[in-house]
Amino acid sequence: SRREGFSTIPNVKWEDIGGLDFLRKEFERYIVRRIKHPEDYEGLGLDLDTGFLLYGPPGCGKTLIAKAVANEAGANFIHIKGPELLNKYVGESELAVRTLFRRARTCSPCILFFDEVDALTTNRGTEGGWIVERLLNQLLIELDGAEQRRGVFVIGATNRPEMMDRAILRPGRFGKLLYVPLPSPDERGKILKALARKKPIDASVDLSSIGRMEACENFSGADLGALMNEAAMVALEDRLKSTDQSTLGATSLTIKSTHFEQAVGQI
Ligand code: ATP
Repeated sequence: SRREGFSTIPNVKWEDIGGLDFLRKEFERYIVRRIKHPEDYEGLGLDLDTGFLLYGPPGCGKTLIAKAVANEAGANFIHIKGPELLNKYVGESELAVRTLFRRARTCSPCILFFDEVDALTTNRGTEGGWIVERLLNQLLIELDGAEQRRGVFVIGATNRPEMMDRAILRPGRFGKLLYVPLPSPDERGKILKALARKKPIDASVDLSSIGRMEACENFSGADLGALMNEAAMVALEDRLKSTDQSTLGATSLTIKSTHFEQAVGQI
């Protein structure tokens, strides 16, 4: 699969994301337009953030947003999982951080995405936490070198912001905090519609009302993705039962309301 620290322009479009319009607007102003039209920002003496922290419950679109921002900006994207950086020999972690930022500068404009960023910053000062401490210090050095960071934006993601060292949340570092909430009932419908773009949903299916079902209360985007998959599986089984094997593949398969109803019961 993906190599660690490998850069590429992701293929996630904003239409693939349901809801979260507020975040789209924030990132338009703070990253996308700055990359596409830097001239608009000149001469105003603006001191704008280049570091962002997305926080909130798991599976609600933090990774998706970061990828869509890179896609919209036409920027490279480097995906780093916090724990992967820690999983190294002494001294190698700091080198890995330096190498990452150097690579990001080389391929700028670039979004450097730190998933599970809390892993890098939680053990500070505690026994056994000195590797984390050294890594964190290196990270702070890189983040503070904002002048050299032209065209490099960092986005961190965490489910546990309260575990993070305060030092990392200051302006110029992961300074702009953005909450990514669980979707509301209406937003669940929007997420289902976004997910449905790649699925053969029958025209009679009302995704908004499925999103408002009580059975979907507290579903994250990831849960809705699982529901969509399950509905597709049910539709497939349905067809396997009802169709003569020889015509399989010739008839078109659509996912209907009854499939969703059965799927909800199974999630
Ligand atoms: P984690 O904190 O567990 O890393 P995350 O917030 O980064 O989670 P994502 O990886 O972005 O979550 O989302 C996981 C999957 O759930 C996505 O690939 C997508 O299928 C679905 N999903 C989550 N949120 C949304 C959304 N707002 N719109 C559409 N799909 C979503």
